[in-house]
Amino acid sequence: MDVISMIIWKDHYTTIFRSALYETTSTVISTDDCVIVVDPNWLPQEIADIKRYVDIIRKDRPLYLLFTHSDYDHIIGYRAFPDAKVIASGAFGRKPLTEKKQIIEEIHTFDDEYYISRDYSIEYPKVDIVIDGDGTTVDMGQTKLTFYQAPGHNNDGLFTVIEPIGLFISGDYFSDIEFPYIYYSGYEYEKTILKLNEILSQFDIQLLVTGHGNPTKDSSEIKKRQQESLHYIYQMREYISAKNEKGITDLIKNCRFPRNMKKFHHHNRLLIEKELEN
Ligand SMILES: [Zn+2]
Repeated sequence: MDVISMIIWKDHYTTIFRSALYETTSTVISTDDCVIVVDPNWLPQEIADIKRYVDIIRKDRPLYLLFTHSDYDHIIGYRAFPDAKVIASGAFGRKPLTEKKQIIEEIHTFDDEYYISRDYSIEYPKVDIVIDGDGTTVDMGQTKLTFYQAPGHNNDGLFTVIEPIGLFISGDYFSDIEFPYIYYSGYEYEKTILKLNEILSQFDIQLLVTGHGNPTKDSSEIKKRQQESLHYIYQMREYISAKNEKGITDLIKNCRFPRNMKKFHHHNRLLIEKELEN
């Protein structure tokens, strides 16, 4: 199975697949009690490879799909796993129908854009296990999941810590290739990434998996990513208040994919400007 070129990480419990698109990750966690698939994505062949892998390793264990948030790239593979139970935040499940439809429309737009056909239907996930609150736990035998709400990037993010393996799944936070992408709230984003302090003090984190980019085992690297995200938000506020255009531009001067990423940076700027006006 290691011929699958998508696999960028494999240890006893965790296999991380990464799409050719946006370095988006799909994680498969395998314990004695269950198999959990996180955000299977993007392209049909990539999702088929993940599915094949899960079929081989699963045996008779229950299968769960964990969605870190409802951005369309993260839910695009939902119906490729029809017998999985879905875990997501309360905000994810309670999203108004019009917004759910809009997310589905984004998937269809993407597929039309690139002439992509899929052998499963495109649907917004129905949530079986709804997670509200911080520190909420779900036990599956010896496998214990602890959740924290993670709004800011969008409004329905969820952090998950899986014990005893010490895995922290953060969705679109703490990426090493993306600065904060803030679609919902800069203040919520800030509060969310500060929850890392509690997580690191409560759990023995062995591996951080982000929605895009590279995983890390290194706790100083995890903290560094948190500090860089905080720095980005604080500096953005300061430069906006000081009308420092060069400061704003230079904030992402070392980013990896500038032609695309500057659009997200500009969007952040507009959102934070609005927040500072209020
Ligand atoms: Zn994403």
